[in-house]
Amino acid sequence: MTHWVGITGGIGSGKSTATALFADHGVPVIDTDIIARELTVSHGAAIPALRQTFGDALIDDAGSLKRPEMRRLMLAHPTAKQQLEAVLHPLIREETYRQQTLFQAAYGLIAVPLLAESPYFQALVERVLVIDCPEDLQIARIIQRNGLSEAEAHALLAAQTTRAHRLSIADDVIENDADLIHLQQEVTRLHQFYTELFSDGTH
Ligand code: ATP
Repeated sequence: MTHWVGITGGIGSGKSTATALFADHGVPVIDTDIIARELTVSHGAAIPALRQTFGDALIDDAGSLKRPEMRRLMLAHPTAKQQLEAVLHPLIREETYRQQTLFQAAYGLIAVPLLAESPYFQALVERVLVIDCPEDLQIARIIQRNGLSEAEAHALLAAQTTRAHRLSIADDVIENDADLIHLQQEVTRLHQFYTELFSDGTH
């Protein structure tokens, strides 16, 4: 039986980079962001329910969810976010369960960017790994990567839960506040820890 660790972190914290480094060690990865995207593109499994909930105006001619329009609707009507999640979350969970059965390893990672905001997904994992970094570094990274202004970067950060709340759900933490070599070393350290922790004869 494969044990599952949830990996999460704030925007620009380095969770995708860290997840890729675990994958380099051969660790299976299930990415709920990718699942969510696949559910909402043309012929995605969520499209019929989204059409029923939000009407035709939010679905383009190819049958994909219009993401910018959806974001605007959620800003104007906070209940739209709950409606979207009510459609998507059970489908994401179902697909995650399906993918979990495909792997045979001591442990694997489930990447859930909004794990702290969505307790619904915490039941999928045995442990939570938070990629943590100081907020000024998060801001600097997303300004550089996405070409945003400082105000836009601050607004994105403010839309997420707090660093303290995210850390409160962590079993393990990687401080990604130095260079990539440091991150690589931290990933290797935790990979060894998880391999030992989960090689307990129960898988
Ligand atoms: P998002 O939530 O926006 O998808 P993320 O948490 O997945 O972000 P990454 O995309 O992994 O974060 O990293 C954000 C940016 O910071 C990337 O450009 C990445 O290359 C860079 N980065 C991450 N960690 C480090 C590090 N230790 N040293 C230097 N750059 C880093």
